Amino acid sequence: MSNTKYIFVTGGVTSSLGKGIIAASLAKLLQSQNFKVTIQKFDPYINVDPGTLNPYEHGECFVTDDGAETDLDLGHYERFLNVKTSQANNVTTGSIYQSVIEKERKGSFLGKTVQVIPHITNEIKERMRLLGEKGDYDIVITEIGGTVGDIESLPYIESVRQMIWDLGRENTLVIHLTLIPFLSAAGELKTKPTQHSVKTLMESGISADIIVCRTEHQLSNDIREKLALFCNVKREAVIQSIDVDTIYDVPLKMLEEGLDRVVLQKLQLPPKPHDLKLWKDFLNRFKNPKNNVKIGLVGKYVELQDSYKSILESLIHAGADNETEIEVVSLHSEQIDSKNIKEVLDPLDGLIVAPGFGERGIEGKIIAIAYARKNKIPFFGICLGMQMAVIEYARNQVGLSEANSTEMEPNCKSPVIDLMESQKSVVKKGGTMRLGAWDCNLSSKTKAIDAYGSTSISERHRHRYEFNNVFSDQIFDENFIVSGINPETGLVEIIEFNNHPWFVGVQFHPEYKSTVSSPHPLFKAFVKASLAKKLNH
Ligand code: GLN
Repeated sequence: MSNTKYIFVTGGVTSSLGKGIIAASLAKLLQSQNFKVTIQKFDPYINVDPGTLNPYEHGECFVTDDGAETDLDLGHYERFLNVKTSQANNVTTGSIYQSVIEKERKGSFLGKTVQVIPHITNEIKERMRLLGEKGDYDIVITEIGGTVGDIESLPYIESVRQMIWDLGRENTLVIHLTLIPFLSAAGELKTKPTQHSVKTLMESGISADIIVCRTEHQLSNDIREKLALFCNVKREAVIQSIDVDTIYDVPLKMLEEGLDRVVLQKLQLPPKPHDLKLWKDFLNRFKNPKNNVKIGLVGKYVELQDSYKSILESLIHAGADNETEIEVVSLHSEQIDSKNIKEVLDPLDGLIVAPGFGERGIEGKIIAIAYARKNKIPFFGICLGMQMAVIEYARNQVGLSEANSTEMEPNCKSPVIDLMESQKSVVKKGGTMRLGAWDCNLSSKTKAIDAYGSTSISERHRHRYEFNNVFSDQIFDENFIVSGINPETGLVEIIEFNNHPWFVGVQFHPEYKSTVSSPHPLFKAFVKASLAKKLNH
């Protein structure tokens, strides 16, 4: 048996307190002391994965190298730790039940009544231990989605209780994240909701070892002592998590509060010196920019921060790398038309057209791309954004006025973007797109190769449609070129427009691979080009 230690992060009082950021920050502090750490997220909803969820419901869907469509918190884990996650790092109630029911059908429980306890909890516990048992990690942090007391979280909380029993208290630890609201009428911070949520946890047989308190104001000594007393934890185990300007400040705030120290003490692991140099260098560049640029982000979910989470974070990484502050201007694709395009795009230094599905808003995207191409505004098209760039060129430059994607117009005359052959027989929606890491070979003397500095790369995908190679000769010319191709299938992965400072469209999702310590080359190059445009004006 491995010596892996298990940390569980639960949440109380309200959702959206940022359990993922706290888990990632703690992992960062442990990783900076040379502990091998991974984080996994358990989500209590019935969907087998979030791939079928609308971004309005659940924010962005993050994709791993092995093609799992996962919760966006996995993006934070990768961005903070620079360590890849996988299918095993995200578990949902749907996937747990699916596997238990499959076992039942195979006859694995013959003669037995299949029940939440022990069958569902056994399956949950197996998944909780899966990564730890490989022996690759000293510490596995498991974030339990939802809020303590929710009906749907109960099997997870019960599994945590059993895990503590199975593995012993010195090998397990529970961090409970709560909110300390400030009542302005009373001018006071209130601890009662936290007391109640800790009590709810106790009713399930779990006493939290550490309480992390989200707050807008400093917690006084009195409040910390009161929380310790009522919540049954040591005074130093009451950790303040005060609102900060950037999520990337949280690890350092947790360091100040001694979160990792208390964790290591409880797990009986020796603390080591922290190496946070790279992290601090990044923060320093991020907070002391020498320049600024305005980047337009065209999409149809722009009012929701979480829908394009990885793109926004990639811009932060690339901005810091270029010592440039990035102001993202959200542009709703349905509100862009040929009348307002000049007024909307002229103030911008660069334009991103976001990924997406379905017809809504695509004409606005095409108008924006045409303007960026003709007016030499740096342009970065991601997945659907790349497909729209092809359609724009086909319609406006090649003269295929009815060019479209068969996703938007199944019987269109010039299907320059079409369903992949391998997708034509697919009927089920869940987990059936072209997903995960695929290789791509880059052509010489292109923006792509300049950015990557390498001839062969691997990037993550999540789409069903592709450039239709039947149109290759008609569409590509000396100006509009293919700069990246998948070596096995010949599928077009990157397109560029040459007669332009920086116009690149990618069929994959580069945003899933940008991290604090390794900002994505294409985002870096795009920000650099946007900055150059601004400075040359
Ligand atoms: N809807 C397009 C496709 O499936 C693009 C998907 C995306 O942008 N992720 O090919």
